[in-house]
Amino acid sequence: MHSQKTKDKIKDVVIVGAGPAGITAAIQLKRSGIESVLFEGESVGGLLKNAHLVENYPGFPGGISGSDLISRFEKQLEETGVAVTLEEVTKLDYTDDRFVATTDRGETVSFAAVIASGTRPKRLADVSFLDGTEDRIHYEVHPIAGIRKKTIAIIGGGDAAFDYALTLSRKNRVFILNRSDRTRCLPLLFERVEKTKNITYLPSHPIGEVRSDGHTLLIVPDESKAGGKDILRADHVIAAIGREPRLDFLGPSLLKNLDRLTKKGRLFMVGDVINNVFRQTAIATGDGLFAAMKLSDMLRRERI
Ligand SMILES: Cc1cc2nc3c(=O)[nH]c(=O)nc-3n(C[C@H](O)[C@H](O)[C@H](O)COP(=O)(O)OP(=O)(O)OC[C@H]3O[C@@H](n4cnc5c(N)ncnc54)[C@H](O)[C@@H]3O)c2cc1C
Repeated sequence: MHSQKTKDKIKDVVIVGAGPAGITAAIQLKRSGIESVLFEGESVGGLLKNAHLVENYPGFPGGISGSDLISRFEKQLEETGVAVTLEEVTKLDYTDDRFVATTDRGETVSFAAVIASGTRPKRLADVSFLDGTEDRIHYEVHPIAGIRKKTIAIIGGGDAAFDYALTLSRKNRVFILNRSDRTRCLPLLFERVEKTKNITYLPSHPIGEVRSDGHTLLIVPDESKAGGKDILRADHVIAAIGREPRLDFLGPSLLKNLDRLTKKGRLFMVGDVINNVFRQTAIATGDGLFAAMKLSDMLRRERI
């Protein structure tokens, strides 16, 4: 791992995010003889660290856990000689016909940029979390994936809520609280949850408030929307109610020139950050590969 400290040299490509999309782009650029700077603000592998079992990524019959797939990506980065710069890009902007990526260690200037920053979880706006609960409210499963013999309430009704429940149910008691009477998850995930004795699925169960009695969390139903439900006790709550693109670091000049730079093939958005509901690993890696091949072709021609 290394750090970019100054504007000493203009780089070919800056990549923001070392999830599947950014990793694939960096590996392919390296194979084409183009050096990129791959920035990662949290941990290599991105959202996959939350995935229970990835069964639709080719090459892994029987599936592979998200964390095992990340280990393979890390090995491949190392073997290819791609270093990951573990710094968050706080601003990516465009000045004097160059991209400028700012981190707390300095600025990196580049000719092209790949934005592979994925998504961030949506926050629960209509539930009140009272004092003393903050450290036990989560938005992804990975911070508590190792806990045992606890009770966890998962708020949500989509793939992520059901996937998180399967991960945690190996060693814990899990409740899935869906405010709607319908799920939005894959039928196979629903069937697996139904067959897992440690998981209870509660449809039509909107939550109004989460408070603490000093020991456990009390998850209070929203009486105005669904009366007569019991207060549930849990050690942790995970809110899995959807995700939104992570683009808050884009600077004003870049935003102004976004369409033009994209059309010119100098800027790419790849993976979950741009894929709306089509958020899957194989799509993200395909996007990253496509961007890298287009950039390699352009940079080769620029150099002739
Ligand atoms: C529970 C769950 C189960 C899943 N199961 C499957 C499955 O079975 N099959 C499948 O194909 N997909 C699955 N997925 C989806 C898969 O994880 C994503 O599609 C994939 O990770 C997207 O890759 P990405 O590189 O586009 O984004 P991400 O994986 O989100 O990576 C983006 C990276 O960018 C970093 N980043 C963001 N902003 C900055 C910044 N400013 N500076 C530096 N770094 C930054 C983030 O920290 C992150 O590491 C699952 C997801 C979840 C949550």
